[in-house]
Amino acid sequence: MVRDLLWPVVEGKDARDVQGLHDAMFATLRPWGHYRGFVQEGMSGIDQALWDIVAQAQRVPLYRALGGAARERVPVYGSKVYTAEPRAMAEEARAAVARGHHAIKIQLGRSAEWGGPNADVEVCRVIREAIGPEIAMGADVNSAYDAATAVRVCHRVAKFDLWFIEEPVFPDDIDGYELVRRSQPIPVAAGESEFGLFGFRELLKRRALDYVQPEIARIGGFTAAMRLGALAQTHNVKVAPHTGFSCGVAQLASLHLAAATPSLARLEWMWIANPLAEIFTTPLPQPVNGELALPERPGLGLSLDRKKLEKYALR
Ligand SMILES: [Mg+2]
Repeated sequence: MVRDLLWPVVEGKDARDVQGLHDAMFATLRPWGHYRGFVQEGMSGIDQALWDIVAQAQRVPLYRALGGAARERVPVYGSKVYTAEPRAMAEEARAAVARGHHAIKIQLGRSAEWGGPNADVEVCRVIREAIGPEIAMGADVNSAYDAATAVRVCHRVAKFDLWFIEEPVFPDDIDGYELVRRSQPIPVAAGESEFGLFGFRELLKRRALDYVQPEIARIGGFTAAMRLGALAQTHNVKVAPHTGFSCGVAQLASLHLAAATPSLARLEWMWIANPLAEIFTTPLPQPVNGELALPERPGLGLSLDRKKLEKYALR
């Protein structure tokens, strides 16, 4: 896809025209209806590489090429406490706070085998009890509810002071998002399943979200993510970039994006081991007291370790 569809669009072009190249790639994909999925992910990868070239040519860290740091350090939220027995989840959350996190994310949307929505309420209760009132606690549903269930559960857990409820319903149920946002008090977050800007535009226009969570490896790289930041700002919506189990390049790119985004809430930072993230000659930056320092070297700031990458080569 990259070699045959997208490379011919950028071959021989000036990387400094990165925004125009982004739009040229999108214009190439549009007639085939390639708005979502790995095609957009391929395009997102090229856009990240082009911005890396631009920043390296300017000899500045990438966030400076994007318009400078909006902040000196990037606040993160630790992610995430996955489904287990409620007591075990509370213990994991407490340990994350002990490691210095000021904000964490927990998993909700339990299946019937795990106790369903009633157990979700219990999970919120025991974790809030374990971490105390000062820690921001978001909850990720991964689209496990329908809108009516989401509204009902949110009313029951609101007293445990949730920072946000993430992906309460399926990404394409925009009516559902609108209903959830209007019918209960917890702020609504989504975006990791959106590809490109147009889905976000609709969600923002309908006032369906309080936080957008763009994934830089899906939305269309830095170009689209920075445009989303501006769009979100005009709607008074905060940005909390998604990283999840992304590879190391996307994690690093998300750090630069977060640094350069004026309306940042917090960057997601996964505490779960991810071999695809450890592909550099030096480790990815680690949070200290819930914050990440900004890379200082030009471009993305770390060098790929070819030996580590070789493990994942397809033959
Ligand atoms: Mg999520």
